[in-house]
Amino acid sequence: MVDVHGVHKSFGPLEVLRGVDLQVRAGEVTVILGPSGSGKSTLLRTINHLEKVNSGWVSIDGELIGYRRSGNKLHELREKDVLRQRTNIGFVFQNFNLFPHLTVLENLVEAPVSARRRPRKEAEDTARRLLDRVGLADKADTYPRQLSGGQQQRVAIARALALEPKVLLFDEPTSALDPELVGEVLDVIKDLASTGTTMIVVTHEIGFAREVADSVVFMDGGVVVEQGPPTAVLDHPRQERTRAFLSKVL
Ligand code: ATP
Ligand code: MG
Repeated sequence: MVDVHGVHKSFGPLEVLRGVDLQVRAGEVTVILGPSGSGKSTLLRTINHLEKVNSGWVSIDGELIGYRRSGNKLHELREKDVLRQRTNIGFVFQNFNLFPHLTVLENLVEAPVSARRRPRKEAEDTARRLLDRVGLADKADTYPRQLSGGQQQRVAIARALALEPKVLLFDEPTSALDPELVGEVLDVIKDLASTGTTMIVVTHEIGFAREVADSVVFMDGGVVVEQGPPTAVLDHPRQERTRAFLSKVL
């Protein structure tokens, strides 16, 4: 359902993505591993069109992201149409990116009301249900700064879910957290995985990848070097570059 096809992306002279192909099936969890600078964040950002590709394309459920096709030409979509597409793609960042001036509940209600025109009451009910799901029902009326990093990230995940996205993208969701707070966030992501949420997770948590991923992707130098089930990629990597990377992080 998420289809990344031949994506190239450069920043000036630096070619960061050099022909990336990636397919993620509905209900599956794909974990992306790779060294710093290999293009993992850039790839996630091209999926929701925060970065425009130089060539190639991304589609979700058959719908091109950021473009429409006419004949064999691609035309860029208007900003308003890109924003509508983006509401179907949840994004959870390393640094939470909650709205600091809004309460936890308001963080979850804002987008459904403003972007989807949901009635406020209905959006609040959904928000409370989602906060309960991430174990934070009692924090609805507090502000982000009053929460621990792990709690803030769980709010960020609930906020992403509030728009019922087709796919959730995570960019190193636990790497800004103190070690003792990593587990509570991974547990929430595991719970989502068990209910069939389609997710792409960039992380250095190999144990998590082993336990939760349906597919593990190893990226290096702007390409997918190797992809397969966790046991294949993590325990029996076929490529020397994958072996070298794993020997450093395991
Ligand atoms: P990390 O594990 O450190 O997060 P990454 O795999 O996510 O690394 P990217 O953030 O995708 O890597 O960056 C890939 C390369 O692209 C890096 O060399 C980075 O400096 C460069 N880059 C990323 N964004 C930009 C930008 N907006 N302008 C110029 N260069 C960029
Ligand atoms: Mg990154």
